[in-house]
Amino acid sequence: KLSIEDVYKSYGNKLVLDNIDLKVAAGELCTLVGPSGCGKSTLLRLLLGQEFADAGSIIIDGAPARHPDPHRGIVYQKYSLFPHMTVFDNVMAGSRLSKQAWYLPWKRDKDDEAFAISMLERLRLVDAMRKFPHELSGGMQQRVAIAQALMSKPPLLLMDEPFGALDPDTREQMQIYLMELHEEHKLTIFFVTHDLDEACYIGTRLLVLSQYYTDDRGEEPTVARGAKIVGDYRLAREAL
Ligand code: ATP
Ligand code: MG
Repeated sequence: KLSIEDVYKSYGNKLVLDNIDLKVAAGELCTLVGPSGCGKSTLLRLLLGQEFADAGSIIIDGAPARHPDPHRGIVYQKYSLFPHMTVFDNVMAGSRLSKQAWYLPWKRDKDDEAFAISMLERLRLVDAMRKFPHELSGGMQQRVAIAQALMSKPPLLLMDEPFGALDPDTREQMQIYLMELHEEHKLTIFFVTHDLDEACYIGTRLLVLSQYYTDDRGEEPTVARGAKIVGDYRLAREAL
């Protein structure tokens, strides 16, 4: 499904990703943790095809990562909504973005509308449906961005700290909702977070990216030149 092989990525003479090797099967919800600046967002940008690795290969469903790709959705660390469009239109735009149909005349799709409204209900955004992004709080904008990315039910969903700006209560509801969507639509998700509890709670697999690793002899941690995947754990997620 997703295969990352011997990937290296530098910025100038700074090596960020040092030999990343990873295979992700369809339907996995991989959570990725690691210290700030270790290269998590960089890895997501490579998966998105926004940037390219210096060496190695990234193959998604048999083809190299490229951009734009209708089969991938992304929720950015910083939300990116269309300022001139209402919440509802921003969410609906998610399906047009994914179908790459911006050039088509606007056509209403009843199924899409029903899915958009069900998400807005679950994300507690119904009352804000007719508002514009600048009228919303940061956490609300972030939830709109999540709905926008989920709109196309992308087979590969890349999420970069999507719940960072949410209060604990809303955050837990979003975690549960994401797990439900993952089950229901068999999504493959790559989820970056700083919160280890969150990573263990929602993930089916936990990946740790770090510049520090312990070698086979279990000696003192050593510093690699760049970050590697230093931990890869299966998680037992309770049935919902
Ligand atoms: P955080 O948890 O703070 O979001 P991160 O793990 O996502 O951190 P990245 O944003 O991937 O980290 O950055 C990894 C390293 O690459 C950092 O040292 C950063 O300064 C550097 N870097 C990222 N993008 C660029 C760029 N466009 N040009 C130069 N250096 C960059
Ligand atoms: Mg980041």
